[in-house]
Amino acid sequence: MLSRVFSRLSSTTARQCSFELGETEREVQSMALKFSKEVLIPNAKKYDETGEFPWDIVKQAHSLGLMNSVIPEKYGGPGMSTLQMCVATEALAYGCTGIQTAVAGPSLALSPVLLAGNEEQKKKYLGWLASEPIIASYCVTEPGCGSDVNGVKTKAEKKGDEYVINGTKAWITGGGHAKWFFCLARTATDPKTPAGKAFTAFIVDGDTPGIIRGKKEKNMGQRCSDTRLITFEDVRVSEKNVLGAPGAGFKVAMGAFDLSRPFVAAGALGLAWRCLDESTKYSLERKTFGTEIANHQAVQFMLADMVMNVELSKLMVYRAAAEVDKGTLSAYHASIAKCFAADIANQAATNAVQIFGGNGFNSEYPVEKLMRDAKIFQIYEGTSQIQRMIISRMLLTNYKNTGSSLV
Ligand SMILES: Cc1cc2nc3c(=O)[nH]c(=O)nc-3n(C[C@H](O)[C@H](O)[C@H](O)COP(=O)(O)OP(=O)(O)OC[C@H]3O[C@@H](n4cnc5c(N)ncnc54)[C@H](O)[C@@H]3O)c2cc1C
Repeated sequence: MLSRVFSRLSSTTARQCSFELGETEREVQSMALKFSKEVLIPNAKKYDETGEFPWDIVKQAHSLGLMNSVIPEKYGGPGMSTLQMCVATEALAYGCTGIQTAVAGPSLALSPVLLAGNEEQKKKYLGWLASEPIIASYCVTEPGCGSDVNGVKTKAEKKGDEYVINGTKAWITGGGHAKWFFCLARTATDPKTPAGKAFTAFIVDGDTPGIIRGKKEKNMGQRCSDTRLITFEDVRVSEKNVLGAPGAGFKVAMGAFDLSRPFVAAGALGLAWRCLDESTKYSLERKTFGTEIANHQAVQFMLADMVMNVELSKLMVYRAAAEVDKGTLSAYHASIAKCFAADIANQAATNAVQIFGGNGFNSEYPVEKLMRDAKIFQIYEGTSQIQRMIISRMLLTNYKNTGSSLV
């Protein structure tokens, strides 16, 4: 009797908990990986050295449906699931995370529109991204505050049926090319107003008078991704461009991360996977003391750590994506995926450079760029410290409420 129950239970569990990608996901993966190997890898060095925005590749990615892929078909987009887009992002990141970030940057700007936009806003702004390879940017960070979003100083003042925005945003990905911006501004005049009521989110057209785009920043890695200071000087925006309710902008801006962090995690995963491939290949070619370095246990252990972490990161990235696809907006899963993938990408890149020895430190070999490109994954879209704060806060709250440490 008991064995019948166990066999029924185990077959049910096996059906519900598959670790295989579906057929469509495998097709998306193979198409994106082909594009990555044929187009991104051969051009990665050129764009890293020149820092030019990779427009030719952005346009090709758009025509293949690999850009802003989660925009629903109803607004003219490819209508991919979050999991499918993560699989595609991972494959593009394998080729070059600088180019992949240039392609994927608008996905952060479109997330608040998906989350809080009305039909008119979705048709116009998601439809625009779907029909043309344009860039849109997410403007929250300022010179004086990044992690502490409650410190945002940019102000929006209501004047008739318009708002007038004044302030400066920093580190805006795609800022030099954006056709529209998501912008978070303080609308409460009382400094004691809680964050949940103090800010309003706006969509601002890129050609609105008063938008001043700063010079392109010279960054350590992901150099062809465009990052700039954006100043709003008496920028007038119709009240029709408020995203969600006036005063509810903090929730809109932060909620967008639950949608977008799985993509960032997928980018970091793709970079770690590339480190693993490059390191494995090199360790089977390079000889010291009469044998391939892959035969030295110290090198084998670095490879073992790398492959373990890539496998674990993949599970968590796909899990976080699956939660979004289920409709559960899960900060918990998104933060674990983003934090873990970012941290292990950095460890993998450091160890890849170590495995390459002196060659690893040189720009003629691929891993030096991987190490420079990896660092930003622990900083943008919330630092690794901020992810740990989110995770521990949820763990503790859950434990107090339910007695369970797992959310
Ligand atoms: C290349 C690049 C692209 C970016 N793209 C965008 C973009 O498109 N849009 C946008 O809005 N922003 C963007 N950012 C900004 C990015 O999100 C911020 O840099 C990031 O959130 C960190 O903010 P900060 O730089 O102000 O660091 P700070 O907030 O000043 O943090 C400094 C250090 O202190 C730590 N720290 C801060 N608070 C705490 C705490 N409470 N507990 C423990 N540690 C803490 C941080 O983890 C970090 O290590 C980008 C940044 C870069 C570099």
